[in-house]
Amino acid sequence: MLRQNGWACLVRRGILFRPEGALLLTLSTTHVPATDLGYLLHKNPSRPQSFELAFGQAHVFYPEASPERCTAALLLEVDPVALVRGRRGSSGEGGALEQYVNDRPYVASSFMSVALSRLFSSALAGRSQERPELAERELPLVARVSVLPCRGGEAFLRRLLEPLGYRVTATPHALDETVPEWGPSRYFTVTIEGHKRVSELLTHLYVLIPVLDDDKHYWVTEDEVDKLLRHGEGWLAAHPEREHITRRYLRHQKSLAREALEQLLGEEHTSPEERERARDEAEAALEARLSLNEQRLRAVVAELQAGGVTRVVDLGCGEGRLLKALLQERRFTDILGMDVSWRSLDIARERLDLERMPELQRKRVKLIHGSLMYRDQRLAGYEAATVIEVVEHLDPPRLAAFERVLFEFARPERVVLTTPNAEFNVRFENLPTGRFRHADHRFEWTRAQFEAWARGLASRFGYTVRFGPVGPVDEEVGAPTQMAVFTR
Ligand code: SAH
Repeated sequence: MLRQNGWACLVRRGILFRPEGALLLTLSTTHVPATDLGYLLHKNPSRPQSFELAFGQAHVFYPEASPERCTAALLLEVDPVALVRGRRGSSGEGGALEQYVNDRPYVASSFMSVALSRLFSSALAGRSQERPELAERELPLVARVSVLPCRGGEAFLRRLLEPLGYRVTATPHALDETVPEWGPSRYFTVTIEGHKRVSELLTHLYVLIPVLDDDKHYWVTEDEVDKLLRHGEGWLAAHPEREHITRRYLRHQKSLAREALEQLLGEEHTSPEERERARDEAEAALEARLSLNEQRLRAVVAELQAGGVTRVVDLGCGEGRLLKALLQERRFTDILGMDVSWRSLDIARERLDLERMPELQRKRVKLIHGSLMYRDQRLAGYEAATVIEVVEHLDPPRLAAFERVLFEFARPERVVLTTPNAEFNVRFENLPTGRFRHADHRFEWTRAQFEAWARGLASRFGYTVRFGPVGPVDEEVGAPTQMAVFTR
């Protein structure tokens, strides 16, 4: 009966077609009565449940539920199309294709950890309303993960799990079953067994699955340090592989890993090697900042190239970062930078080294003083305009003037516009809640606000618009920068 309600029911409902090929985590116990597992996981053994997650669907059901043995299964269907949708326009066709053709939908990864934390949050935290005393107890547990990618192979898998007191069985998958001479892949079906609290075992999986996979589907920020320390409490500090675990969990971001290890072990315990790494820290932090800027410039230049643009005006060019990048590409033969700030224009002139530029080069670029608030004849005749991190500096009541200046009067064929994504602000460690990234920002838009504004504008002035993230895409809050590309 219960069996029927498990697999069979899902198969009937068309949720499950090939259980043997699905991405699956099972957790079994022989504690008597085994069906208490349902209370510990807060999921009723007789009722299969499905959950919508940002990256696909998760199903929880019990393939077996007798008093002697009970198995809960978490089945994850990662939707490759949803993954791509979340990143539309990120890197052109090649990028999208690469995202379709990858292993993510088929292997246990950070998606599994997200699903664990969403579906089993109480169990992870060791809470159970009906069986609080059982949540505290070590029970005979077996967990099985089908298709776990293990970078570092079986040896590393064992070095991670055996010190935690698990018996580990790992069955490697062939790279291609039809071509045995290719040898094993880095994918394993892994079973771990031990007497553990349910919360302990789930926590170990939560942390170690992405560590083994050595990849995460979202950008790792400061709060991952807290997450790691919280979930690592009671076991990570004493783990012989704690440094590996920490580094991989934090995706090899040295400064974060060092911070985590320091908090984990106390400063005096950090190795000389770790202290040496500290010297890189300032540079790494700087690089992180540079790289967002860099990524933004690259995204903009790529859009202009893709549009076959040769003549472009950069509105609110500031200190000329984009102008410099444009000059490096021969295709841009006519580049105009405009800004309202004389000081910025001076810095731009220096940055570009205009005075010492060879005559031919110099002819390609011009800097002018002007305001986006006023209709300006000098802006006419360019194929494209870029407005990079500028609109958020304009007073909202004056946005309408800017819209007309650009879309009605200058009217280039293509406009590439970027602005901060306000949703991402929670990921900046030093930014107090509710504050803008820059003192001069008049507003910062969420993705929905930006898209609503841009769509309205496009339809009023006869443009079409598409959007793309710039910078690493966080599953929940999106990318740090958002970009709109208008074409007419
Ligand atoms: N696009 C540059 C600078 C962004 S900072 C970059 O990405 O690095 C915003 C810039 O917009 C500043 O240089 C500021 O002087 C300029 N700006 C603000 N209001 C403006 C206006 N009304 N007209 C033209 N430029 C303006």
